[in-house]
Amino acid sequence: MLFVITGPSGCGKTTLIGKVRRSLGDLGFSVSHTTRPPRPSEKDGVDYHFVAEPVFKRMAREGRFLEHASVHGFLYGTSLAEVRKKARRGDLILDIDVQGARQVRRRAPEAVHIFIMPPVAPELRRRLAGRREDSPEAVERRLRNARGEVRAWKEFDFIVVNDDLGRAAADLEAVIVASRRRPAEMAAAVRPILKSFEKGRP
Ligand code: ADP
Ligand code: 5GP
Repeated sequence: MLFVITGPSGCGKTTLIGKVRRSLGDLGFSVSHTTRPPRPSEKDGVDYHFVAEPVFKRMAREGRFLEHASVHGFLYGTSLAEVRKKARRGDLILDIDVQGARQVRRRAPEAVHIFIMPPVAPELRRRLAGRREDSPEAVERRLRNARGEVRAWKEFDFIVVNDDLGRAAADLEAVIVASRRRPAEMAAAVRPILKSFEKGRP
């Protein structure tokens, strides 16, 4: 299964994804390609595949992205190779923006889309500034873009408000576990149960 996680920059997506991946233990993460320069704490190949713009554009021309978009002045995309490789091992989380989420909805309609909301606008500013990884200009740009992003909330299957971190992580975990209980996901587990009912009277 694909889990698409979207929300304004600084709302806590990376933090929540980390927590839920640690607690569930069986969720892969799709490492995106980007032309944004790495932040001090980021590692190439772990947080992103950091690439130059001509490389990114060539990949886009060659149709090597499941989705890609221009976000806060840089290019970001999910490569098909990354998704194919990691989806073979199990469920996969994509941390992508609203434009990318729309593209995934068209190309992979079975994906589960989750929107993460900050509790209130000034808290988003506090978190972006408190992260101390973006320039003041980058923080302002992200805050400006957040206004449009939160308006897309109704396009998503689930909404998680990231107020208290522990509660939000529990919500996100609940959404993932519940999504895994849909009939299409349960077919392999249900088959032997059904079979046991075919062998005469229980
Ligand atoms: P995103 O990936 O959405 O851009 P991050 O996960 O990097 O956001 O979080 C932005 C900042 O907010 C980080 O410094 C993080 O530690 C902090 N943060 C995340 N969730 C919470 C929360 N529930 N309460 C307070 N601070 C939070
Ligand atoms: P950041 O620069 O803060 O890591 O990410 C900025 C925004 O880009 C976030 O909204 C994040 O979800 C989005 N993003 C990260 N990777 C991708 C991607 O592969 N595709 C798209 N469309 N957006 C992405």
